[in-house]
Amino acid sequence: MLELKQVHSYYGNIEALKGISLEIKEGEIITLIGANGAGKTTTLMSISNIVEPRQGEILFHGKPIHTLPAEEIVAMGICQVPEGRHIFPQLTVRENLDMGAFLRNDKQGIKQDIDYVYSLFPILAERSGQSGGTLSGGEQQMLAISRALMARPKLLLMDEPSMGLAPIIISQIFDIIKKINKEQNTTIFLVEQNANQALQIADRGYVIENGYITLTDNAEALRTNEAVQKAYLGI
Ligand code: ATP
Repeated sequence: MLELKQVHSYYGNIEALKGISLEIKEGEIITLIGANGAGKTTTLMSISNIVEPRQGEILFHGKPIHTLPAEEIVAMGICQVPEGRHIFPQLTVRENLDMGAFLRNDKQGIKQDIDYVYSLFPILAERSGQSGGTLSGGEQQMLAISRALMARPKLLLMDEPSMGLAPIIISQIFDIIKKINKEQNTTIFLVEQNANQALQIADRGYVIENGYITLTDNAEALRTNEAVQKAYLGI
């Protein structure tokens, strides 16, 4: 579904991605794990073309997308849930969800998807008239995921959804990510520092270090890999 071929991305003269290659098949949950500053966010930003790769190729269903404007990439079905959530704090929960559907005009489908995200996260239904900024961190993460789902993405890019959340909320969020993957057949690319949880729900994973992919395998093999355990799983 998505293929990165030798992607190099920069911030000014700083080379943040030094030739990243990876692939994601339709229906998979893929995780990208790595330390602070390894290049995880930049990988997602490069796919969304918020950071434009200077070299290499990004193909979606075989079609190059690294030269397309970010809004066209969204329209093709690739949607990002950014790190730190970035919901609209002044807008209500419901208005935030409507913003996620701004490219659509199928009223009936939008209504169905609102009902679906409210069934995933009943607390959002309870708080639908409340402004986003008054929600807890966990609720804002739920809203950010729901807003992305309102675009009916084929590929959901998630940047550290567990960041700053209590363990019980993190478990809930990861359960829901798995559910979305199964029920909606949404392919998921999950960037995480919380490797332990990410590898529990992922099919396969990649390890990124200092702008390079250093390891890839199925999730079970990564979970039992000694180097991964030592560096990322605290074992
Ligand atoms: P984190 O877990 O801290 O978000 P990350 O793995 O997502 O880390 P990136 O944010 O992709 O890492 O950063 C990769 C490299 O690019 C780092 O060396 C970082 O300092 C640098 N970098 C990231 N954003 C910028 C920016 N806006 N300007 C300059 N350098 C940046």
